[in-house]
Amino acid sequence: YEKELRRLSSLDLIGQMAAGISHEIRNPMTTVRGFLQLLKMENKFIQYKRYLDLMIEELDRANAIITEFLSIGNTRTSELQMLDLNTIVHDIVPLIKIDAASQSQIIAVETGDIPQLLLNRNEIRQLLMNLYRNGFEAMNEGQVLTIKTYKEGNHVVLAVQDQGAGISPEVMEKLGTPFFTTKDNGTGLGLGVCYAIAARHNATIDIETGSEGTTFFIKFQAN
Ligand code: ADP
Ligand code: MG
Repeated sequence: YEKELRRLSSLDLIGQMAAGISHEIRNPMTTVRGFLQLLKMENKFIQYKRYLDLMIEELDRANAIITEFLSIGNTRTSELQMLDLNTIVHDIVPLIKIDAASQSQIIAVETGDIPQLLLNRNEIRQLLMNLYRNGFEAMNEGQVLTIKTYKEGNHVVLAVQDQGAGISPEVMEKLGTPFFTTKDNGTGLGLGVCYAIAARHNATIDIETGSEGTTFFIKFQAN
């Protein structure tokens, strides 16, 4: 319990940091983008137009990533509405497919008959993206990531299941600790954000892991 408390308070901090960082990164990016646009209009740079377009495109992509991953906003202002979780899942699948296709990984969706829930759409999107990213990063080509929704007793469950190598007990112990990562280019923030989002939704996160893969179960209270 004590550990859980420590985890939560540092996650609050992460949320605020993430919002701050995304703002701080966006400002210089906007400046750079503006000057690139300006260069594009200069006749003497006409031969570089293709590169300038590419640079602007890449900036826009980075911006989109910030939007998806760091703009989790303020805990206090996040609004919850009665929404259909299945719709949120289906809406995000095309985005996930773009990621999956590039690595020859497969995504399966099995949405069940579930009641509406009090949700914040952006946060649930973010939670899903962080979980499927981890799943893809743990899997090889041709392996399948499955997203499921179903009702189980008083709960609605959102499950994200991968076929990766699983999580070792040593790593399990540290999951959710801010900045803990086993990846060369990891941030170690993804799961922390997931825990924070789940907490705001009064949901819990259970993990089942083994040599066959890992499943994250987000359990919401059904009304
Ligand atoms: P990051 O992905 O940037 O490393 P996360 O907070 O998302 O940060 O994850 C922390 C660590 O948890 C990862 O570095 C990885 O070791 C482990 N992990 C998370 N999800 C999975 C998964 N589905 N399969 C295997 N390991 C995982
Ligand atoms: Mg991650």
